Amino acid sequence: MNEYDSDVVAQMLTGAGLVRVYDPKTADIILVNTCVVRAKPEHKAYSSLGRMSVIKRKRPDVIMGVLGCMAQKSGGDLIKKFPLLDLVIGPKEIGSIMDFIEGVLINRKKIVAISLEPMPSSYNKCSGYFNGRVTGYISIMQGCNNFCSYCIVPFVRGREVCRSPNDILSETKQLVSEGIKEITLLGQNVNSYCWKDNKKEGFPSLLRKLAAIKGLLRLRFTTSHPKDLSNELIRCFAEIDNLCSHLHLPFQAGSNSVLENMRRGYTREWYLDLIFKLRETCPDITITSDVMVGFPGESAKDFDMTLDLVEKAQFDSLFSFKYSDRDGTLAKQMGNKIDEGEKARRLRILQDLQRNITIRKNRALEGKCLEVLVEGSSKKGKLSTGRTKGNKIVNFTVNNNVVGELINVLIKNSSANSLSGEAVDC
Ligand code: SAH
Ligand code: SF4
Repeated sequence: MNEYDSDVVAQMLTGAGLVRVYDPKTADIILVNTCVVRAKPEHKAYSSLGRMSVIKRKRPDVIMGVLGCMAQKSGGDLIKKFPLLDLVIGPKEIGSIMDFIEGVLINRKKIVAISLEPMPSSYNKCSGYFNGRVTGYISIMQGCNNFCSYCIVPFVRGREVCRSPNDILSETKQLVSEGIKEITLLGQNVNSYCWKDNKKEGFPSLLRKLAAIKGLLRLRFTTSHPKDLSNELIRCFAEIDNLCSHLHLPFQAGSNSVLENMRRGYTREWYLDLIFKLRETCPDITITSDVMVGFPGESAKDFDMTLDLVEKAQFDSLFSFKYSDRDGTLAKQMGNKIDEGEKARRLRILQDLQRNITIRKNRALEGKCLEVLVEGSSKKGKLSTGRTKGNKIVNFTVNNNVVGELINVLIKNSSANSLSGEAVDC
């Protein structure tokens, strides 16, 4: 979501004639987009603002701003902490970024804009921004109504607001016309997408319309909430050809009492049943998830239930985090906080377990021929790189320039993070 928001801002700046530089020391405008979903990214954002302040001290004409959820959460207090800041802009205000920058230039006044009201209708203002890129994102909704007890998102991104299907369709067509082959639809809870006009339009119907756009080779979406995963959406994986067979379905905890305290609205049995149905409907689907350890009151037995769920679900990969208190949330008020050392111990055990599962699953793909959308060169530069329908990174050798094409790759090796092989006809 934040990468997308950063792209939106970069599009607007380049569209207004500004030029992108890759070293903040040479920039005239420095904007730091931030996330506060956990304590760690918030600390990283603070360090980044510290580094940017050093630059601005040397070159006072630089415009320095903080964007996103940290701006929303802390507002004007950020200017007290970082007096050199010119702009503090919340996630729902970024559509007016050029006006704010002009405001600073003309009036040399600091601007704090953190209303949760505005909703950008269409972001895609600068055609050509995506030149050379194969994959892109489209935000289909903002905010969240779920108020999970640990989560700050509803407070910093506001309530759920969906974009109209027409708006999403026209942005998708625009990106496809610019050369994008794969689109990922974004939202905190995409499967609760609902547009009420003459008649109600839900997420599965939106998917079918988008998938039919000519030239769109692949469609993905993230993130989905288990409580809203309908049978109709599960069927889409079997019925829509260019819908990638990958689902990111955060489970957060394996113990029913912890899930209840988290206010997630489902049980471990419900979650495991969804996994079963997904694999029954689409046998080659890859499933990834998010989980937390050390939620207030999480006992050793509760943690064992999380390990047990991970064993049973056999995720392809897992994003795992230590719980951290977030301002304004119910969980922050809860007693029985878990010691940091114990959280770190649980996280290590969980990550070791998942690493072995991931390695085993990736090894099972060796010798198989997988369809890959080619995105460019690998990090080390010598190989081409792309992803499978299941979202696994593949580095491979190929003779021609095939960026943007779907090709078959014979998988020869695997690790926990990626697959490797060679392009073949199969
Ligand atoms: N909307 C998504 C989650 C978005 S937040 C969903 O409902 O699944 C991304 C991830 O950050 C969450 O899945 C959760 O695992 C983690 N997270 C959120 N709040 C957290 C907190 N207070 N401490 C630690 N991890 C947290
Ligand atoms: Fe946060 Fe829960 Fe909303 Fe996800 S569904 S963004 S975890 S409140």
